Amino acid sequence: MRAVVLDFFGTLTDPGVEAGRRDAAAVTAAALGVPAEAFWTAMGTSFTERITGRLGGTRAVLAEMARRCGAEPGPASLDAAVAAHRTGAVPLWRPRPAALDVLKTLRGRGLRLAVLSDCGAELCQGWAGTAYAPLVDATVFSWEEGARKPDPRLYATAARRLGVAPGECWYVGDGGSREHQGARAAGMRPVLVTNAGYPGAGAHRDDPDSYVPADTVDDLADLPLLLEAHG
Ligand SMILES: [Mg+2]
Repeated sequence: MRAVVLDFFGTLTDPGVEAGRRDAAAVTAAALGVPAEAFWTAMGTSFTERITGRLGGTRAVLAEMARRCGAEPGPASLDAAVAAHRTGAVPLWRPRPAALDVLKTLRGRGLRLAVLSDCGAELCQGWAGTAYAPLVDATVFSWEEGARKPDPRLYATAARRLGVAPGECWYVGDGGSREHQGARAAGMRPVLVTNAGYPGAGAHRDDPDSYVPADTVDDLADLPLLLEAHG
């Protein structure tokens, strides 16, 4: 095995911060001048459209969400909402305690690393400034690729950007978006991070994976040992 492709949210990020997503959305909703509940619902039902870039960037997405909530915010409100939304996204990227050390350890073994994430414009545009960026060789973001997991093109793109064959890649994720099923179909070897130490973490997974890989770890911190044993 020559590479590891990792999911981002709930895998590299701290699953404990997911609970803050709703509060962050409420701040954006207030800036847009729409009810928090209606905004949350509009965001939820538009997930696929948003993360595949079909609605455009942050500003266009928020204008569309407001429209779906029956509002038409002016430019100043939209500016404020964009700023609030970008600010609110950053805490959700907080690395889980082991994340950066695990990436360094795997790199130290000569493994190539990629992040494959279903995400909106905010992560794509903020990625270079994160602590993850210098530790990862390639990224594949749904918003940029125009496809979401488990679309096989995303896995193929990750392998290609790493310069390895899919069969030489581990795929590591916490099990949202049928990502392991997609990884297996692409020829990668899937590993589930169960997040057993974070009760309720599974509630934040969109389109959860019914396929459970043979290889599992309870926490990302346990990954280097598993890969060493089976690599
Ligand atoms: Mg995830």
